[in-house]
Amino acid sequence: MASKQFQMHQLLEGEVVDLTSRGSGVIRVNNFPFFVDGTIPGEKVSFTVSHLSRKYGSGDLKEVLQASPHRVEAVDTIGQEIGTMSLQHIAYPEQLRLKQHLVEQTFHRIGRFSLEELEVRETLGMENPWTYRNKAQVPVRQVKGQLTTGFFRRGSHDLVPVENFYIQDEKIDAAVLVIRDICREFGVASYNEKKHRGLLRHIIVKRGHYTGQTQVILVLNQEEFPHQEKIVEAIHQSLPEVVSIVLNYQTRRSNVILGRKSQVVWGEAFYQDQMLGMTFNISAHSFYQVNTSQAEVLYQEALKAADLSGSEKVLDAYSGIGTIALALAKEAGEVYAMEIVPEAVDMARENARINDVENVHFEAGPAEEWLPKWHDQGIRFDTVVVDPPRKGLGEEFVHTVIEQDPERIVYVSCNPATCARDCHLFADAGYQLKYVQPVDLFPQTPHVECVVLLEKKS
Ligand code: SAH
Repeated sequence: MASKQFQMHQLLEGEVVDLTSRGSGVIRVNNFPFFVDGTIPGEKVSFTVSHLSRKYGSGDLKEVLQASPHRVEAVDTIGQEIGTMSLQHIAYPEQLRLKQHLVEQTFHRIGRFSLEELEVRETLGMENPWTYRNKAQVPVRQVKGQLTTGFFRRGSHDLVPVENFYIQDEKIDAAVLVIRDICREFGVASYNEKKHRGLLRHIIVKRGHYTGQTQVILVLNQEEFPHQEKIVEAIHQSLPEVVSIVLNYQTRRSNVILGRKSQVVWGEAFYQDQMLGMTFNISAHSFYQVNTSQAEVLYQEALKAADLSGSEKVLDAYSGIGTIALALAKEAGEVYAMEIVPEAVDMARENARINDVENVHFEAGPAEEWLPKWHDQGIRFDTVVVDPPRKGLGEEFVHTVIEQDPERIVYVSCNPATCARDCHLFADAGYQLKYVQPVDLFPQTPHVECVVLLEKKS
């Protein structure tokens, strides 16, 4: 076994040859790969072995022996510890370049597109790649006898106290502390994961990038909430931008943050934000991109790729609260959209109404069921836009899209690996991959979004 030549805690050194999609540097020692966080391709480093399996190992960075010219001082070392900013030691222009490279390699390796034919454009980045998140989901635990907010240490569920997350809207970080202090004052019990006891599991704060309107969600382990009214009152009194306070009940032992049941206890069920000049209502259980200004860049790229003339019948699959669908509707004949979360579909219909968009139909349910249904009803789409979750489209859905025979497919993706896999299927069926446009919605993290244009070969 290759791994037998190494021992735990052994000190090794080598050159970083690549970066994984999770942001770890790859170092090969006698051709055996080790993943080491906090490193940059091109660097020589030493590390101690922290994990060994048959095919690969992990290491803890010991010393940078030859630093990359792209290495910068970490803004916040806690951010490294909790994994929220695993690329912060890399200068931002290099982060963008590495993401472009990662997307290119992924389309080559998984999508099997040749590097000569593949056009992966330069990643579109932010001018100020900090304080961009419009949403915080902060776990709550007891630390040193006190209710504490922070984040889990990488690969564990130990809470590290954090007050400044650097990548979150500063007003959101501040609001979390105000809510924390109110909860301390009223003696709210923090959730204890091991015993599955206690009350407050997460504090979620979402803030409209353009409007400042704020929604607070308290995720509770049980429905009984001592001093509920006084706490809710104190929150909206102390935070005037709050327009909605929701209690969510997650009573199960689970890593899933939100439970199914929610109750609005103050204000509206939603808050509002703006995007591309339109207003959107966003409720507790609806998806909303966490980086508003870069999501606008992403959607504009999707519109550019769709290149509509005003008469097309367009599909927007995985439509959330209707952000992409409403933007498309302005340039299309008619838009059909579907989304699995019924509450998000309610929002989407309301969003169409408040923005005076009439040529769009929203349906609740799985995309995999609605597309064949529409197909059987004789509806044919000229252009198909998809924006699925990380697991991508899957083979069956790809085949129903192909059956539709659209001229253009615009694939918006948050996971290059599943996107490349699906694009390979489209390519096999006669679609040409025109280009891939990466957009950076998640600076300081290894995540990247892409817009892909596929066109039917004539
Ligand atoms: N286009 C939207 C949402 C993208 S996120 C936006 O940019 O805001 C992906 C969405 O797909 C989520 O809203 C999720 O609830 C939804 N979804 C997940 N699985 C689905 C399925 N099988 N069918 C339809 N929608 C699904």
